[in-house]
Amino acid sequence: MIKGIAASAGVSVSKVFKLQHPEFVIERRDAIVEEELAKLHNAIAATQKDIEMIKAKAVGRLADEELAIFDAHLMVSQDPEFVGQIEEMIKNDAVNAEFAVEQVSNMFIGMFESMEDEYFRERAADIKDVTFRIKVHVLGLVIPDLSAINEEVVIVAEDLTPSDTAQLNREFVKGFATEIGGRTSHSAIMARSLEIPAVVGAGSLLDKCEHGDEIILDAIAGTIIFKPTDAQKTEYAEKAQAFADHKASLLALKDAETVTTDGHHVELAGNIGTPKDVEGVINNGGEGVGLYRTEFLYMDASELPNEEDQFQAYKAVLENMAPGRVVVRTLDIGGDKELSYLKFPHEMNPFLGYRAIRLCLDRPDIFRVQLRALLRASVFGKLSIMFPMIATIQEFRQAKALVEDEKKNLSKEGIAFSDDIELGMMVEIPAAAMLADQFAKEADFFSIGTNDLIQYSMAADRMNEKVSYLYQPYSPSILRLIKLTIDGGHKEGKWVGMCGEMAGDERAIPLLLGLGLDEFSMSASSILEARRIIRDLSFAEMQDLATKALDMPTTEDVLELLAANVK
Ligand code: PEP
Ligand code: MG
Repeated sequence: MIKGIAASAGVSVSKVFKLQHPEFVIERRDAIVEEELAKLHNAIAATQKDIEMIKAKAVGRLADEELAIFDAHLMVSQDPEFVGQIEEMIKNDAVNAEFAVEQVSNMFIGMFESMEDEYFRERAADIKDVTFRIKVHVLGLVIPDLSAINEEVVIVAEDLTPSDTAQLNREFVKGFATEIGGRTSHSAIMARSLEIPAVVGAGSLLDKCEHGDEIILDAIAGTIIFKPTDAQKTEYAEKAQAFADHKASLLALKDAETVTTDGHHVELAGNIGTPKDVEGVINNGGEGVGLYRTEFLYMDASELPNEEDQFQAYKAVLENMAPGRVVVRTLDIGGDKELSYLKFPHEMNPFLGYRAIRLCLDRPDIFRVQLRALLRASVFGKLSIMFPMIATIQEFRQAKALVEDEKKNLSKEGIAFSDDIELGMMVEIPAAAMLADQFAKEADFFSIGTNDLIQYSMAADRMNEKVSYLYQPYSPSILRLIKLTIDGGHKEGKWVGMCGEMAGDERAIPLLLGLGLDEFSMSASSILEARRIIRDLSFAEMQDLATKALDMPTTEDVLELLAANVK
């Protein structure tokens, strides 16, 4: 059995399709300039044709975001700077085209790979993919056509390029296993998008199998077995069936109510970072958006996004999610999240420093633009505005006053906004949890941000591995802060949600339900499983469970209690 990284869940018992790209060694040769330029231009044209064709086949199967990779590839192949430098080299040095392509592309790849920004490092993979194709065409070789696969197989390869992955047809390709790569590599992300089981980074594979060998791919455990025994084939065929059944049963819950066996309703929502993510929330049966992290709008830009751009983004989310609620969190930047175009002071403790609502209240010029865009968008759906990192009542009042002020300005200008916008806050600082009953008199709702609440309660930086043992969602101290927040909100008739990672944690859900949480917001892919869990639970029993947990001394005791509760 070979161990790799499970990158996209599923189990397959199938046959090996060995994907081996043509191998060649490129050497410098003296050549006739006109001939090499013609070879280069023909190869670029053939490459562009390939890309167009692969893209056309992928439309409808890949999300827009992934399709954009092919536009990036086309751009590389048309880039005047890139192509110009290759032409220059052929002309100046009278060398063979493939050599010039390799030299120039290596220079660009090296440049992008050394960049800090992940986005640019990804571009290095794009250049590699495109230039490989150009070289193959110059040399008159062929790349295996994955879209022509017409029997059930598992692809085994050193790695899959984005264009390889995009050609995979789910009907026949039952999975893939690669020697290199990680959970966040291009091919892994695409595999999840296409819902093709994948194990990546498994080390040497190609020298361990032959084309057509039988293979078991367990992309739940992250293992690969070549030439399995009959007993193993039966065992894994059953595992594959169980996985498929489970997935189908979850999908049947897409439009089901989120209600316990004794009739207690809660709401399940999704966390999003961009307007495109709404689709995933809806496809997974989310009833709303419980956290829209708007900082991505600011982080993906080269300057502060203007009111119109923000308005368009918020409008798209509200319209697509309507009539479901959308909780938009105002800018949570600063501390560890920097903006290249905004100067932040250097701080000893960025997590305890100038960030989120603190920065926004200090820079109303920035904050007001976002508030206006939100208010204008509010007529397109059900908007709730949420302020991050609130520590004091004064901060909440100031933020609220700015919203009221912008409402007045819009009214004066005759611009419409909804008269039914909730104003709430994240509870992610222990001071706010302790004072929840007072906050609840002024806020319309709370959403508990456990990612930060835990780090601030334990005084342990969430990015510091040395103290990661203190990141304890099940600690009775954290559970008590959650309870204080929920009880404080309920005392004033306000709803209380959670948008930290804990809300989607299968073990925590029964406890949070018992503590009285009204809304759970999580990544879209966790929603259906959460609904399945909740529909099997009794609210009354979970209330008892929560009462017991609150009275325990340690995290371990709480975990033991939860384990005993799993049916
Ligand atoms: C949180 O702190 O729990 C939260 C949801 O916000 P973020 O992870 O964006 O800080
Ligand atoms: Mg937070």
